[in-house]
Amino acid sequence: MTEYKKVFQELKEASGDRNVTLVAVSKFHPYEMVMEAYADGARIFGENRVQEMREKFPPKGERPEGMKVYLIGQLQRNKVKKAIEWADRIESVDSIPLIDKIEKECEALGTDMEILLEFNSSGEEQKSGFSSPEELIEAASYASGCSHITVKGIMTIGPLGFDDEKNRRAFKRTKDLYDELKAVYPSFTVLSMGMSGDWRTALEYESDEVRIGTAIFGERV
Ligand SMILES: *Cc1c(COP(=O)(O)O)cnc(C)c1O
Repeated sequence: MTEYKKVFQELKEASGDRNVTLVAVSKFHPYEMVMEAYADGARIFGENRVQEMREKFPPKGERPEGMKVYLIGQLQRNKVKKAIEWADRIESVDSIPLIDKIEKECEALGTDMEILLEFNSSGEEQKSGFSSPEELIEAASYASGCSHITVKGIMTIGPLGFDDEKNRRAFKRTKDLYDELKAVYPSFTVLSMGMSGDWRTALEYESDEVRIGTAIFGERV
């Protein structure tokens, strides 16, 4: 049993007229649970490790109708090829060398990739992501010049703990940066922020996509 339907309904009620995508974060949970959520309407799943994603999900083209998998965890350059082969989008792009590698591997594989640029909006050292708006802006410019990459927007993970004020500061910074880039790049349509503990707050800052694991699948072991 998953709580997908309940979370989907809550999200729908909280987002009003806005169309907010629900990514069901299935990391650490078995494919049987993915399929239960799928039966309840889930289509987009989030995984944070390339190997787990490849072991759990069927390859592209062999999945149930409409099922997509987004990579949301830090990606090492030596795993880019394996990631591109399986993922429908990479949401955790955090450096220009990584963008470069994605472009080269896409070229070699004859494919294209959607990406989100990850912003370290809380400034926490243990978090990945571009640590300043300037660096992220430079990366957006770089990625926009790549012919196999579509930069769909920005992803951020809120601060550790449940400090509402800190959360709001991080989401506001990310939203401002997103608006600035959206004005320049028409491909920007996704601001991905909000997880089980803070998605309602993220919606107040006009998140377009929430990534929810625990509230749907339960605690990870
Ligand atoms: C694990 C994870 C989530 C989901 O977190 P929950 O608190 O379980 O909802 C969302 N985004 C990223 C990047 C994650 O790694």
